[in-house]
Amino acid sequence: MSLKGKSAIVTGSTSGIGLAVAYAFAAEGCNVMLNGFGDAGAIAKEREGMAKQFGVKVEYNGADMSKPAEIADLVNKTKASFGSVDILVNNAGIQFTAPIEDFPPAKWDAIIAINLSATFHAIHVALPIMKAQKWGRIINIASTHGLVASPHKVAYVAAKHGIVGMTKVVGIECADTGVTCNAICPGWVLTPLVQAQIEARAKADGITVEKANHDLLAEKQPQLQFTKPEQIGGLAVFLASDTASNMQGTQLVSDGGWTAQ
Ligand code: NAD
Repeated sequence: MSLKGKSAIVTGSTSGIGLAVAYAFAAEGCNVMLNGFGDAGAIAKEREGMAKQFGVKVEYNGADMSKPAEIADLVNKTKASFGSVDILVNNAGIQFTAPIEDFPPAKWDAIIAINLSATFHAIHVALPIMKAQKWGRIINIASTHGLVASPHKVAYVAAKHGIVGMTKVVGIECADTGVTCNAICPGWVLTPLVQAQIEARAKADGITVEKANHDLLAEKQPQLQFTKPEQIGGLAVFLASDTASNMQGTQLVSDGGWTAQ
């Protein structure tokens, strides 16, 4: 079965992984609802370019994923614009690193809101629509940090473990409804979110960005390569495909051997 004409929401799709996932679904012929922060002119250009390149409808909703009412509006406006909500990719996320004693409570609250609770709120509104359609694909972008921990990432690791757990519950509750819910767990992917961590590491250790890049990979990923955002796009399309229709409540891991060790 083709994904042509399906309607896809990708949260946090103005940058990095989300943008690549949005392109991947547009390339399959899906109508795409973009979301995320950024320069209005740049977002409009991206939206128009994607629509023209693939001959699909592409719209943008600027919902702040820390605000449940705006998340509900994002889902409902997508249904109103495209007639259905077939694919929901919960991707928006932020990072902050510090030892627990120094971790600002406001950063904890923000990461839990955007990286964890937003996924609940989006599923809460989208699932009745998908169940009524008897078809839906929920794809949660978790992380290797949903499976294992690293120091100084208490909120991120807690949120991503929560995403993996939530994915299992939603998967079980959706069994036999035509809706599936699965997670993708990437290791390092070179996006602005990781670039900031590499630059901070170079500064802290007094080394070049190239050396910090290498050290970051060498510490975790035996393959010494970043996963490309487009590869995560390909995995998301796979999870939406018929081939993956019996995958339920589970995780796809692309981490260069990180969690095999
Ligand atoms: P990124 O910083 O490039 O993109 C994040 C996106 O989320 C942007 O579009 C941003 O505008 C949006 N966003 C942030 N706060 C938002 C809010 N309150 N409301 C709406 N949108 C908001 O980051 P990325 O690396 O592409 O990360 C995307 C997802 O992938 C995140 O959930 C991240 O945890 C996960 N992830 C990333 C990596 C990696 O190595 N880059 C690895 C594993 C998992």
